[in-house]
Amino acid sequence: MHAGLPCFFIRLTGCNLRCSYCDTTFAHEGGFRISVEELVCKWQDSKVSHVLITGGEPLLQTPVYELMELLLTKGARCLLETNGSISLSSVPKKVVKVVDWKTPGSGHSDSFLEENLRFIGANDEIKFVITSHADYIWSAEIVRSRALWLFTSVIFSPCYGLVKASRLAQWLLRDNLEVRLQIQLHKVIWGEKRGV
Ligand code: SF4
Repeated sequence: MHAGLPCFFIRLTGCNLRCSYCDTTFAHEGGFRISVEELVCKWQDSKVSHVLITGGEPLLQTPVYELMELLLTKGARCLLETNGSISLSSVPKKVVKVVDWKTPGSGHSDSFLEENLRFIGANDEIKFVITSHADYIWSAEIVRSRALWLFTSVIFSPCYGLVKASRLAQWLLRDNLEVRLQIQLHKVIWGEKRGV
């Protein structure tokens, strides 16, 4: 929902899942240590209002809660991307949560914590990455059976290199599903290369 806006991007290393299509080695290795205070200073220097915290799985690093609180206190518009397998109960309410619901094609379709639905609201998003038509059918059934669109934004994103956006658009229009099609903007702009 916020795609295209300038954004200060914080990627935290380490993930408890190993999705088949994971596109970042930073999810599992590398990175460097930095304090919460230093990170917030760097964001303030950037003069960008939106901050996206992602990973890896950012909720595995407990100082992330202090980071979110401090960013909000300083006036940031704070977003969190999380893989749906970790409880959202301690995430500050003002943080916009973008929560994956892993499809069978990821290899982790049993990882979503359904109790997390209690912490996901109108300003948040649930995202399904679609790797095949079978994934699409499976995800559409989840959306319908839980009536997800009634309380949050639902996003279907075609997996880069496996499903064309035009094909996913056809399926969505055919079934009149109340979800938003999202493409990976950075891949459209920069392809597989690292961007700016
Ligand atoms: S949850 Fe995200 S970061 Fe973790 S393995 Fe899957 S795609 Fe990669």
